[in-house]
Parts: sequence; C-alpha cells; structure tokens
Amino acid sequence: MIDLIIDRATVLTMEDCVGYLNDASIGINDGKIIFIAEQNEDISNKYKAKEYISGKDKLIMPGLIDAHMHTEISIFRGLAQDLNNWMEIGLWPFSQHLDPKAAEAAIRLNIMEAVKKGTTTIGDFGSEIDLIANTCQNFRVRGVIAKTINEIDKENPVEPGQLYNFNYKKGKRELESALNIIEKYKGDDLLDFNLGPQALDMVSLDLLKEIYKQAKNFGLQIHMHVAQGDREDWQIKKRYGDRTIPFLDKNDLLGPELRAVHLTEATPEETRLLAESGAALTICSGSIGIIDGLVPPLLEFLEVSDRISLGSDQAPGNNCNNMFNEIKLTSLFNKIKRSDPTTLNAGRVLQFATSKAAESLNISDKVGSIAPGKEADLLFIDLKSPALTPVINSPLRNIVSNLVYSASGEEVESVMISGEFIVKDNKFLPADEDEIINDANQEAKRLMAKVDRDWLQDKSPLFKLQEKGYL
Ligand SMILES: [Zn+2]
Repeated sequence: MIDLIIDRATVLTMEDCVGYLNDASIGINDGKIIFIAEQNEDISNKYKAKEYISGKDKLIMPGLIDAHMHTEISIFRGLAQDLNNWMEIGLWPFSQHLDPKAAEAAIRLNIMEAVKKGTTTIGDFGSEIDLIANTCQNFRVRGVIAKTINEIDKENPVEPGQLYNFNYKKGKRELESALNIIEKYKGDDLLDFNLGPQALDMVSLDLLKEIYKQAKNFGLQIHMHVAQGDREDWQIKKRYGDRTIPFLDKNDLLGPELRAVHLTEATPEETRLLAESGAALTICSGSIGIIDGLVPPLLEFLEVSDRISLGSDQAPGNNCNNMFNEIKLTSLFNKIKRSDPTTLNAGRVLQFATSKAAESLNISDKVGSIAPGKEADLLFIDLKSPALTPVINSPLRNIVSNLVYSASGEEVESVMISGEFIVKDNKFLPADEDEIINDANQEAKRLMAKVDRDWLQDKSPLFKLQEKGYL
C-alpha cells in the first residue's frame, strides 16, 4: 500500500524535453515518486494507495526552480525601477535600514508568493540565511541557499567613483558564519547550500580563493553575481586593470563549481569562455530588463552549454517573484533580441525552470522532473483556467505554449513538496496568509519612517515622477 496515486492526469514529466503524457497516473510513497504509468499499463493490480486524487482537468508537472532570489529585500517591492543607478539611487536609500525583524517578514512573504505561483525550490541569496533556512524548514519548502559574503567595509564608506575599501576580517567572518549555518542544518533533506561571494568587485582575490577552497572541501557550489553591471566593470578595471570574466579565468576561478548569475555586461566572447569552463549560468530576465534595460547573453552561452537556470532576483525592481513571468520574458526578450520568433521555443525555456535548472544546481538526483526515485515536488495546474482554455490535443497540442505564453501562475491550484501539500486549492497551508501580509505591511511602514525623505526629494527620479503624477 503506497501513500497516494494521482489518477489519470495530463502530465509533463520534463524528461526527454517536456515529456508529455495524455492520460497518466503517478504513484507517490514516503515523499517520493514511485511510478508514472500510462493507462495502457495496468497499475491497478500492482499498486493500491491509501489516497487517490483524480487528475481530471489537471496538468501535473514538476515544481519550478527559482535559481536566484533575494527574499529578504522583498519588503522594498516596487521602490526601484524606471531609473538608472538601480543599486545606489534605487535600493540603498531603503535597504540600509533593513533589520532582521523586517527581513523575516520579507522572507516569509516572498517564499509564500513564490510557492503560490509554482516555485518549489527557493534559490535564495541573502545575508540572513539562518532566517531563510528556518522559514524553509517551517514552511516545508525546498531551499538552495547562499549567504552573501562581501568585504565592503561599512565603517569606511566611499563616494561613488572610488574603489571600495575592503575589510578582509569582515569577509572571513561572513564565510565562517555561512559554514557554521550550513553545519547547523546538515542532514535536512529539504535544504541545500551554496557559498555566495557577492561579486568580484565586492571581495578581495584572497578571500575569493579561500571561498573556492572551502567550497571544494565541503562539495558546495559557488553562487556568484558575475559581470553584473557598469559599476562592477568600473571597479574591476580600476582595481585589476581587467574585466571580470577574463580575470576569473586567469586566476583559475572559472569552472564547473561556479554558477554565475546575470552576465549583464559580458561580451559574447566572455560568455563563451565562461560556458566552456563548465560553469552554470542563471539568467534573471525580468529583473535585468527592468533595472538595466538589457537582455543578458543567454543565446551565446547556449551555443556551448545548456547548464541554464532562471531566477526572479529581487522584488524592489522586478517586481515579482513569479517563475511564469521569468519563463515567458526569457523566451520573449530573446526572440526580440534576435528578431526571430523561433528563438527559445516554449518547451525549451520551460526546461530552464525545471530539468535544466536542477542539473545546473546539482540537485537533479532529487528534483527537476517526474521520474521514479525523485522527490514528489509537483504542481497541480487547473486546465479549466480561462488562460489555458481550450485544451487541444489533436492535431496539434497547445498546453505547453499556453503554459509558457499565457499562464500567469494563477492557474497553479495546488503545490506539493516532498509528497506534502504546501498549497491546496489555492490556499497556503503552512502559515496564515493574512498574518504574513499584515506583518510585511507593518514592517515596511516601520522601515519607511527611517528613510531620508529630503534625500529622496533631492536625488530620486522616482520622487520626481511621483510629484509629476506618474506614481
Ligand atoms: Zn542577485
């Protein structure tokens, strides 16, 4: 007797491209997928289950992997877009006031938002990783978590246009703290960790080499922002007389252990160099589109390697953490970039949020597709949603295209992680939704009282837009 059979559903296994099955049943026991069988196979003699769920009008597919998020700053959602200098002018006036209490409210809000829209693996990158890991544990949500490690000395700030002051001891402390927290959660099946040097311009070469050494010791992936903007470009040129990717290459820091995020400013040649090293790439189309007005060089990377995943990045300027948005924008932006509608077809881009993402994050033994032995991280999608109607199976199927180009995440009715429902019939089960929302609103209000209004009035283009009536 097994725990559960999902009976006669439409399934995308995401094995062998999308792995479409018209009428299939999925057996789950002890949180894992036991079998997937089409109706011409007789499973009723072989398996009995404690519970049966009808798959009628449901699409079952693997949970989505959001490979790069900053959940703790979702408290600043929508405060930094439509401007230049996103970090200095957009984010920092607000984020300098973030404290653990507000961070926790933000983490809870953002994870709930993501999961309700179909994300089952939270690829978080933040400073409060104990809170992130704890929230994932409490919500029973899968996490691949990296603690931000940087050496920028907050005691000795610099003016824009100067090299950052590094404090090696601070960076070393952050690395040690990351390793301690990883040790603390060791053995938790839902949690994996990366090491997260923030970016090449924010850590010294010595510390970066130390981080790579520790990553190798503990078998951890390096999750790092790479070539992420003109600010980094300027710092690397000034400090080393070089560019990020060639400099990493010269120092033996490009390789399969690295998962690079963004590549906003990378040239096609640099992108190919990164791909040839075996490194993985995470692309955040929505975020980089909004904060930089650019389309990162994903297509050049794909000429060499398909170690690709997608990330929703951060809510101050994206402004949502919704993988359906990322999947659609990634396909669309790259079609537009190449003036070619055949670029990144729907099934291909869906792989970047499921099977290919799992391979890139080194978690494909557990998730990314529906196959016996893998964790039951599954989405139950309502095929009777207006955005997915009509469902056509012959002579041409339309489910995958509608999922990618029409769905918004609202169609995700239930979400299962390791065989357990986290969202059931659109209701988030691990915590009170209203409480999470109210808490986030309250914490945001508390932080906003600390923000320097005069500075904003003087410096922020958004403040001026607001005065003109555009906000
Ligand atoms: Zn980021």
